[in-house]
This record gives sequence, C-alpha cells and structure tokens, in this order.
Amino acid sequence: MTEPYTPPVLPLLDKRQRPLRDLRISVTDRCNFRCNYCMPKQVFDQNYRYLPHTALLSFEEITRITKVFVAHGIEKIRLTGGEPLLRKNIERLIEQLAALRTPAGRTLDVTLTTNGALLARKAHALKAAGLQRVTVSLDALDDAVFRRMNDVDFPVAEVLAGIEAAQEAGLGPIKINMVVKRGTNENEILPMARRFKGSGMVLRLIEYMDVGATNGWRMNEVLPSSEVIKLIGDELPLVPLEPSRPGETAARWGYADAAGRHDPVAGEIGLISSVTQAFCGDCNRARLSTEGKLYLCLFASHGYDLRALIRADGADADLGAAIGRIWQDRTDHYSELRSALPADAGSVIRRVEMSYIGG
Ligand code: SAM
Ligand code: SF4
Ligand code: SF4
Repeated sequence: MTEPYTPPVLPLLDKRQRPLRDLRISVTDRCNFRCNYCMPKQVFDQNYRYLPHTALLSFEEITRITKVFVAHGIEKIRLTGGEPLLRKNIERLIEQLAALRTPAGRTLDVTLTTNGALLARKAHALKAAGLQRVTVSLDALDDAVFRRMNDVDFPVAEVLAGIEAAQEAGLGPIKINMVVKRGTNENEILPMARRFKGSGMVLRLIEYMDVGATNGWRMNEVLPSSEVIKLIGDELPLVPLEPSRPGETAARWGYADAAGRHDPVAGEIGLISSVTQAFCGDCNRARLSTEGKLYLCLFASHGYDLRALIRADGADADLGAAIGRIWQDRTDHYSELRSALPADAGSVIRRVEMSYIGG
C-alpha cells in the first residue's frame, strides 16, 4: 500500500528564495514549422531522431505529475512544445488539467503557446476542454517575411484566421509572441504594433535568445528591447506600467493618450528582454520535458528524470519529496551570468533545445 502523501509547507522556496509557481509542460518535441531561431532545417531534417512514442509522458502521467506539482505551489500551467496542437487529443489532457485544484481549492490557470497553424480548426474544442487563454507566436504580418521565418512556406493568413477563431472562442486575452531578429524582421515591428494596438491582444516582443545549441545565435542579431521601445514609442507613444504580478517575464508598456497617461482601450505591449535585462531574480518557472525530465532553467543542460520515478511505481510521496528537494536546491540564474560567458558558449555547453523543453 502506498503511504498517504503529506504536502509541503508552502511556499516552497529555492536557494534564492524564489517560490515554485509556474509549470511549463512540453507535450511534443515535433513541430510543423522550422523557425530558424528554434528548429533550423539543417538540423531538424528527415534524419533527426525525435522521441519515440513510448518515451513520451502519457496524459495520465502528465496529470499525475502536475497534481503533485500543484501540491507544491504551482498555480499556472502552460502547455508548449514543439507545437502542442500536434499532440493527438490534446483536449483530453486539457480537461484533466483543468479539473485539478490548488491546496486552497482554486482552479489553475491553464494556457497554451502555439504557432497558430492548427488554431482555426481547434480553438472551440480547446475552449470547451477548459483552456483559458492562448499565446500565439507570430513574427511578421508580411506574408513573404513570415513564410521565410517559419521556413515551411506557411501563409500568415492562416495564423491570423487562427487568432480570430481563438478570439471568437473566448480564449483571451490573447498574447502575441514576436521574436525579433535584427536584420530579419525588425521592419515588421511597427506594422505589428499598429495592428494589435486597441485589439484587446497584447503584443510581446521577445529578444532573440541563445537557447539550445543549434540556432547559431550571435549577439549582433539581437535587437535590444530599449531600441524596440524607442522605435514603437516614436510613432505610438508609450508609458511604463507596473508588473501585474511577481515573476512576470515581460516588462509592460502602455499606449499613452494625448495627456501622456495610459489609455487602457489602446492597450499595452510586453518586452521580454532575457538577453539585455536578466530577470532571473524572481523566476518561478519549472519546465517538464516531453519525456518527463524536470528542468529548472530554460538554459539548463541537465534535467531530473521524473518519468523514471513514476514508471518505477514510485508513490506520489516519493515524487513530491523529489520535487521538493530539487526545487529547494535550485540556484539557476543563467541570464544574469550570460555576459560573463564566452560568445560561443552555446556550442560548448550542451544546452537543451527549446523545442524539447518548451518556451
Ligand atoms: N510551437 C509553439 C510556438 O511557437 O508558439 C510553442 C513552442 S515555442 C518553442 C515557444 C516560444 O518560444 C515561441 O513564442 C517562440 O517564438 C519562442 N522561441 C523559440 N526560440 C526562440 C529563441 N531562440 N529566442 C526567443 N524566443 C524563442
Ligand atoms: Fe516550432 Fe514554435 Fe519552435 Fe517555431 S518556435 S520551430 S513554431 S516550436
Ligand atoms: Fe529563469 Fe533561467 Fe530564464 Fe533566469 S535564465 S529567468 S533562471 S529560465
């Protein structure tokens, strides 16, 4: 018989006093896009060895692990990948996760990040399953630039239709993630800002990061957020806003009215500056890979094998004790250390790929 599980005293803090709050779950390492900054075609070609089906956590395994995480303080879940909408019957997993409750009896915030390719078809079913919001990645409005960036010639109109379907289905407020690469899509920043201003959606501009070891990252392709704010603010005046909660990845800027105050109808944008302004100080995110490894940082090279624990018939108490210990020992703060590393660190340290660990 398995022992009853005694939940820990919350909040569970790591070595830098950061609580465990946010769990990102990668449900597949596959994708129908080949964004050069994430899954470059030269590496993720027909010879690339993806995880076999038996290696993937089943929905029941994901739900069981998540339940123990929730007992340890997780309040927010983000499904990601690879492309999460490629995972068959993902709605079933969402139903199971949406049924979980925090120790205080609250529902969880269940969200998903997608490239939007399958969203028009799936938005209503996702909402019906209990998904609250989606974040859609969109790097350009210009069709030619967009097709080049996804590198599978996928038309932008289909992603825009997906965004519209998600809005109709009530999967909002929708966030739009735009990875900005100097020399690739910086001319798309203003058209994107104009398009999403006043739409009820929040455009988030992300500095191109040195994740993984395959994207050939170079600092000179990073457009610092300070330049992005200036570019947008010169045409559409902006005012800084307070963070809405601790550990928020994006710095918030609101569109200003004629008096220079934030105009809530015009909305806001977010700047994710993980290269130029490290935000490890209150990072409360854990990541569960497609095959059940726990990573404590987006830039980690080592994960803790939770799948082995549960497939060895471990009790929830053992899983809970392992999660508690791993989080309490956590010291990760890669973005704060980046500037001290050699420029080619990505090819030297065997960092995990973003398509495997999720964004
Ligand atoms: N396929 C889904 C998508 O694209 O939305 C979910 C997974 S994707 C890895 C999650 C997020 O990571 C996306 O918004 C993507 O743009 C972002 N991302 C991937 N590689 C990145 C990089 N090198 N720098 C910054 N963001 C990146
Ligand atoms: Fe696929 Fe998302 Fe990576 Fe693009 S960013 S290759 S859509 S996983
Ligand atoms: Fe969190 Fe690691 Fe990113 Fe720092 S570098 S914010 S610790 S994921």
